[in-house]
Amino acid sequence: MIKKKIIVANWKMNPKTPREAAALWDAVRRTARNLPRVDVAVCPPAVFLGLFSSPGRGNVFIGAQDVFWEQGGAYTGQIAAAQMAACGARFTIVGHSERRALGETDEQVSLKTRAALKAGLTPIVCVGEMTRDSAGAFFGVLTAQLQASLDLIPRTAASSLVIAYEPLWAIGRNFREAMDSQTIHETIIFIRKVFADKFGQEAAKRVRIIYGGAVEPKNIAAIMSDGRADGVLVGHKSLVVSDFTNMLKSANAV
Ligand code: PEP
Repeated sequence: MIKKKIIVANWKMNPKTPREAAALWDAVRRTARNLPRVDVAVCPPAVFLGLFSSPGRGNVFIGAQDVFWEQGGAYTGQIAAAQMAACGARFTIVGHSERRALGETDEQVSLKTRAALKAGLTPIVCVGEMTRDSAGAFFGVLTAQLQASLDLIPRTAASSLVIAYEPLWAIGRNFREAMDSQTIHETIIFIRKVFADKFGQEAAKRVRIIYGGAVEPKNIAAIMSDGRADGVLVGHKSLVVSDFTNMLKSANAV
């Protein structure tokens, strides 16, 4: 089964101005439209969501960085999944470790993932261990996180999810400190097995499992080929136009 690879750009709380955001978006779109083997989901801060021309045309899409689980009402500061969709989003990150560090729980991630699906968004559900211990306790951490974060997801929707495996200790580092491709491969196999136990073999085969954590031009090809990742989630390097466009080209060539 051929699954189209997906490259997710998580801009976090960057850039500072709408003008910079529009320039970054244009540069990504110009490069990506010649790269038919990858889909690109650009996730800017929500305030910039309405800025971009022709989102969702071709293979470049807009993603939100988070959504709220309620559909509307008295929730100051929150943004509903349907509102993100109405402003052009097709994807949303859910349960990023930086949000979990602010107190977001697996149960909330599950509510948000279900809300995103209801609104027609593709959720990119983030999981990952804080540390790797030699006794393998991190396998238990990952299993519990996956099961609880996907608790409310119906079997019929499971294969449309994207799971982003992001070991916390690798996020924001440089490529030398990213996880090696062999370990990424082994962990993706493990995640697929947990997914199969919950949703069945067929859904587990189809779901896209991507890797995030210090992905850079120097390691993206190995992560996607040897690591067998169905894509990558890129943080700091998604803000550097030359690096990110080179990474898209590498991913398209894998
Ligand atoms: C991230 O924000 O999830 C991430 C993977 O960041 P970085 O690429 O900077 O490690």
